[in-house]
Amino acid sequence: MYDSILVPTDGSDTAQAAVDHAIDHAKRYDATLHTLYVVEEPPIDEGDAPEVLDAIESTGERAIQDVIDAARAADVGTVEGSVAEGAPYRAILEYVDQNDIDLVVMGTHGRTGLDRYLLGSVTEKVVRSAPVPVLTVGTEPAD
Ligand code: ATP
Ligand code: MN
Repeated sequence: MYDSILVPTDGSDTAQAAVDHAIDHAKRYDATLHTLYVVEEPPIDEGDAPEVLDAIESTGERAIQDVIDAARAADVGTVEGSVAEGAPYRAILEYVDQNDIDLVVMGTHGRTGLDRYLLGSVTEKVVRSAPVPVLTVGTEPAD
């Protein structure tokens, strides 16, 4: 049913909850697991603040590496990680298209989420526009 599963991550705890489900699906279906971190627009002027850009990129690389480590520890056969730039929802949809993704697994919320919204804006846009099923994973409310 699924050959290529994408779990986009922003490094948040909720994205991490999605990673657990994505790993389980990848194992069950013997699918390749892809993970993607998008460095958000507006892009920071590299000339002005290289250390800021580096910090954002290394946050992304760490988030990707955490997913890869968890997937390998769980014996997922093939894992691929990438970092993209731009509007996260657009980069996620492009990745789906370009990599023949057939299932997206993502958090209901991310780093900046306000509890009053049902879904974060990135997830909402991906759910609306993705040509494939999107599995959304939340975390237990804190109180
Ligand atoms: P908002 O960004 O709308 O203020 P939020 O941060 O709570 O709210 P989203 O950004 O939609 O919510 O995050 C929901 C999920 O989308 C995350 O758990 C993650 O799976 C994915 N996601 C969000 N931002 C990125 C990103 N920059 N790169 C990759 N995946 C992302
Ligand atoms: Mn967000």
